[in-house]
Amino acid sequence: MSKWSVKDSLELYNVPAWSAGFFGIRANGHLEVRGDGQDDSPSLDLYELTRDLQRRGLRLPLLLRFSNILEARIHELAGAFRTASTQYGYRGKFRGVYPIKVNQQRHVVEELIRLGKNENLGLEAGSKPELLIALALLDTPEALIICNGYKDRAYLETALLAQKLGRRPIIVIDRFRELPLLLKVAEELGVRPHIGLRAKLTSTGAGKWVDSSGERSKFGLSTREIVAGIEMLKEKGMLDCIELLHFHIGSQITKIRAHKDALREASRIYVGLHQLGARPSLIDTGGGLGVDYDGSQSNTHSSTNYSVQEYANDVVSFIQEVCDETGTPHPDIVTESGRAMTAHHSLLIFDVLGVNNGMGDVADRDIPSIDAEDPKILHNLAEVYRTASTDNAQEVYHDALQFKEEANTLFNLGVIDIQERACAEEIFQHCCHKILGILHEMPNPPEDVDILEKPLADTYFANFSTFQSIPDHWAVGQLFPVMPIHRLDEEPTRQGIFADLTCDSDGKINRFISQEEDKPLLELHAWNKQPYLIGVFLIGAYQEILGDLHNLFGDTDAVHIHIEEEGSYSVEHVVEGDSVDEVLSYVQYDRKALVERVRRIIETALRKGQLSLEDSALLRRRYEQGLTEYTYLSQDSLEEVS
Ligand SMILES: *Cc1c(COP(=O)(O)O)cnc(C)c1O
Repeated sequence: MSKWSVKDSLELYNVPAWSAGFFGIRANGHLEVRGDGQDDSPSLDLYELTRDLQRRGLRLPLLLRFSNILEARIHELAGAFRTASTQYGYRGKFRGVYPIKVNQQRHVVEELIRLGKNENLGLEAGSKPELLIALALLDTPEALIICNGYKDRAYLETALLAQKLGRRPIIVIDRFRELPLLLKVAEELGVRPHIGLRAKLTSTGAGKWVDSSGERSKFGLSTREIVAGIEMLKEKGMLDCIELLHFHIGSQITKIRAHKDALREASRIYVGLHQLGARPSLIDTGGGLGVDYDGSQSNTHSSTNYSVQEYANDVVSFIQEVCDETGTPHPDIVTESGRAMTAHHSLLIFDVLGVNNGMGDVADRDIPSIDAEDPKILHNLAEVYRTASTDNAQEVYHDALQFKEEANTLFNLGVIDIQERACAEEIFQHCCHKILGILHEMPNPPEDVDILEKPLADTYFANFSTFQSIPDHWAVGQLFPVMPIHRLDEEPTRQGIFADLTCDSDGKINRFISQEEDKPLLELHAWNKQPYLIGVFLIGAYQEILGDLHNLFGDTDAVHIHIEEEGSYSVEHVVEGDSVDEVLSYVQYDRKALVERVRRIIETALRKGQLSLEDSALLRRRYEQGLTEYTYLSQDSLEEVS
């Protein structure tokens, strides 16, 4: 067998397929991050960077954001539309807006505005709080503010008054009822509104968020309502206020076909508006541009079967075709792609706290010997072990499983004792080990090797919370690339899953991307009690804000990094994660009150002589210290026992 190389790791973890060029592996076996996704772009050793940041006092788990990647993604999207427009001779402009809900963190939004200045990147607000962010932050003169979501009087007044500040927010009518209210408020304020109409398309999206579209979606006007709205505006002499047609068929659209269907329908509606006498000059295609999280370029949930360029080509060519056919002027194209813009730029690094070997160390032990007095079930299992061979591997595995279950039943009925049950488990492990060995030697192993491997897999205890850092993995089974960021020049000889810090059995990563379908186990390196750092990638969209405080694990530390020339970087922002007293205050516990209560309990115990003065002092110190600490575990304290 040839020696393991970083090439093997690249292939195993499918890095070129999902990384969009932003990640690679160096000869030293460390993952590297590349500023603009090109082979020759400035790059950093991710492992060394993490160790550096730890030396600066940042803690694991740590969220890393790279502004270079954000910038590259903004340019990629705008560039794709430029390329498409040039190719087709499209006369409208491209005007991207960033939907704030995808990642509202101030530093992220500020960075997007700053980096997107040249592209006139605007903002999309889906709620009143998001509108308030947009109004305060967006200072790019040509950039659009698109106002979506449920709107009450206060929302509308704010958006309309912003016009008096020289801003140009476009208020998108999501529900018909909003239109009369908007006209009333606008009249009161003496402002002519910039109106967008959101169409409810019959073509549906595809993927997990399919319900955002179709006739039953929460948002959008039916064609009947659009026609009625036009009538209403015509009567008031306000037809010219209609400036934009909007649609959004859902997020992470996995099939290009769904985009095409929606574009076809929306382009016709756009032309229809012109036929009715309105003159909108903007068409807003919403979000939905997907990210190929697993690198499979397929229409599975965590992938997309199209590229950014293909999407841009379709948007431009579909709109153009219908406009040219009907003699309608080419509109400027607005997109609200949030996921595609932000997903790549951030990643989480967590450390492994320890490993539970699923196989036990069965390989190092002899199979227990059985004698005549032992229960029949043990003999059955031993027989499985003895007879397992290439010819019957799958069959004997099923037998072994059945005998193991029988052993459990016999134990529950009191027929076998705890020693005998332990012996059954031990022989079962030996059976699995032997069968797995046989299966791996076979040129065409049967399909259910996976099932056999699962109970034998290692559990790597991971210092993070799924619910806080990758909630979509838990909630909708979304896959994210996960892999070690070092030791990649070394063969990963184990297979495992990650169990997080929460007490929830769902708190784990047990589906992983692979070249084919997803897989239940990840190849990992044997635990050597040295720091073992794992990265979770492409988490810049939605994860942070959907994250929750399960078991009171709070926000992680976060840093914004700008990659400079080879090997150097600057830390642009550090956002300290939650401390224990902060997360406690979110659920209404007051630090001082807690400390005071514990003080009183300690006093009582002291009076009763239950603890010494020294112990009481130590306990108080620990308690108060504990309140100021990070909610995650610190590796130092664990090293004492390992
Ligand atoms: C959520 C949302 C978006 C963002 O969608 P992505 O798939 O993340 O690009 C855009 N527009 C509207 C109206 C949305 O609700």
